[in-house]
Amino acid sequence: MHAHTVAADTLDEAATQVLRDALRGQLLRPADPGYDQARTVHNGLIDRSPAVIARCAGVGDVMEALAFARDNGLPIAVRGGGHSVAGNAVCDHGLVIDLSAMKGLWIDPAARTIRAEAGLTWGEINHDLQRFDLAAAGGYVSTTGVGGLTLGGGLGWLVRKHGLACDSLLSADVVTADGELVHASADQNAELFWGLRGGGGNFGIVTSFEFRVHPVGIAIAGLLMHRLERAHDVFKFWRDWAPGTPPELTTGAMLLTAPPAPFVPPEHQGAPMLGIAVVWAGPAEQGEATLRPLREFSSPAVDIIGPMPYSAAQMMADDLWPRGACNRWKSAFMPEVPDAAIDTAVRHFHATPTPLTCLLIEHVGDGAVNAVDSRATAFSRRSAPFNFLITAQWDTPRDADHALDWTRETWDAMEPHLASEGYLNYIGDEGADRVRDAYGVETHDRLVALKNRYDPGNVFRLNQNIQPAAR
Ligand SMILES: Cc1cc2nc3c(=O)[nH]c(=O)nc-3n(C[C@H](O)[C@H](O)[C@H](O)COP(=O)(O)OP(=O)(O)OC[C@H]3O[C@@H](n4cnc5c(N)ncnc54)[C@H](O)[C@@H]3O)c2cc1C
Repeated sequence: MHAHTVAADTLDEAATQVLRDALRGQLLRPADPGYDQARTVHNGLIDRSPAVIARCAGVGDVMEALAFARDNGLPIAVRGGGHSVAGNAVCDHGLVIDLSAMKGLWIDPAARTIRAEAGLTWGEINHDLQRFDLAAAGGYVSTTGVGGLTLGGGLGWLVRKHGLACDSLLSADVVTADGELVHASADQNAELFWGLRGGGGNFGIVTSFEFRVHPVGIAIAGLLMHRLERAHDVFKFWRDWAPGTPPELTTGAMLLTAPPAPFVPPEHQGAPMLGIAVVWAGPAEQGEATLRPLREFSSPAVDIIGPMPYSAAQMMADDLWPRGACNRWKSAFMPEVPDAAIDTAVRHFHATPTPLTCLLIEHVGDGAVNAVDSRATAFSRRSAPFNFLITAQWDTPRDADHALDWTRETWDAMEPHLASEGYLNYIGDEGADRVRDAYGVETHDRLVALKNRYDPGNVFRLNQNIQPAAR
């Protein structure tokens, strides 16, 4: 962590005191205890020093902090769960509107809806929903924030049955760039509601989200692992088998280093392996029958698939992406997974740079995502059945160059098999063209029109940015 000086010194102390007094939550400046922790995000590579962090307690604080930043010409970062790999939750010399203390959750079990404040993580939401045998369609791990994940789309364990996280969004409360609090739903501010479902944090600060939630209760979930020598055959079996399974099943194939965990026999710990992770969210008997061919194929070295509460299933992969590790991610959709792509991925993984590095292919299609019209939400790329993702992770600076080189080489080798567009929540800052490609021309034009209407000055620009049209 380095020292923080510039804006902290230039920002008017008396004005800051006015904001401190106006907030119900906490205001943190560089000299305050807790500041360093509050500027830390999931990706250990990100080391930014905001002038002010406004840890908001509610909507009023968000409005106060936004007005303060605008009056003082400060850049703004909005922080939800802090998982943006690009580090968009923090900025240098500006103001962080930190929503992470806003954790109100209202559950209506009969209507199967919730209203969730923007600081909640999916793990917190599903922890409480489990009591009612309900689950929210969040991510593949429990630690991500509800805000960034939903606004960018949201892939997770219920994706084939219930779609993206944003497909379960019913309404949102939004503080817009000019400081208004507006409600967006299919009936109210419908165009804004369209843009919130995939357009990221471009149009305002969402203070709470209303979601439809789903009956799940006990899932059948877990992981199979095979030695890398068998990876080609198992990978190909999975690719051919997964698309024909019922949508209650969501699976992903991942190349990983077997962790030194009790469920891994000692002889496999530390070995590069192919894992197939599964979550079945449906009737148990049908789930057991559906999973049988996968579990019986080629005698896995590890099989820890079994019944568990959905809230536990959502946590099962958390340890693979520990907070504070340095992260470099690359990702794109895959229209298909040819043998050559599998061979390339496995070959490169033989030289994996660090034990935390993973290479994943997620099966996201052949289900609810494709059932939604591509113009219904700003998340418009709904046809690809698979998504490819490299998550290079390392702990010590001496591994950085090797990890970055390996990521680049692996990406270059995989690129011929990948779609040109990627999922924006999985990539870092890869420039305006990549953002445009992710949406396609028609959706991007519509997002620019929405940006012109709600944020023509690009107040909210620390994100996968939709740039307003020049006037
Ligand atoms: C370990 C890990 C696991 C992941 N797993 C998944 C996964 O399973 N599925 C998936 O789809 N993605 C996943 N992602 C990617 C994830 O969706 C994005 O990183 C997402 O941005 C995280 O949201 P956040 O609120 O935690 O992040 P933040 O870094 O706090 O925010 C990300 C962006 O969203 C904006 N934002 C956040 N909240 C709000 C709000 N309330 N109003 C307006 N703007 C807001 C921020 O300004 C920023 O631009 C994962 C990322 C990591 C690091």
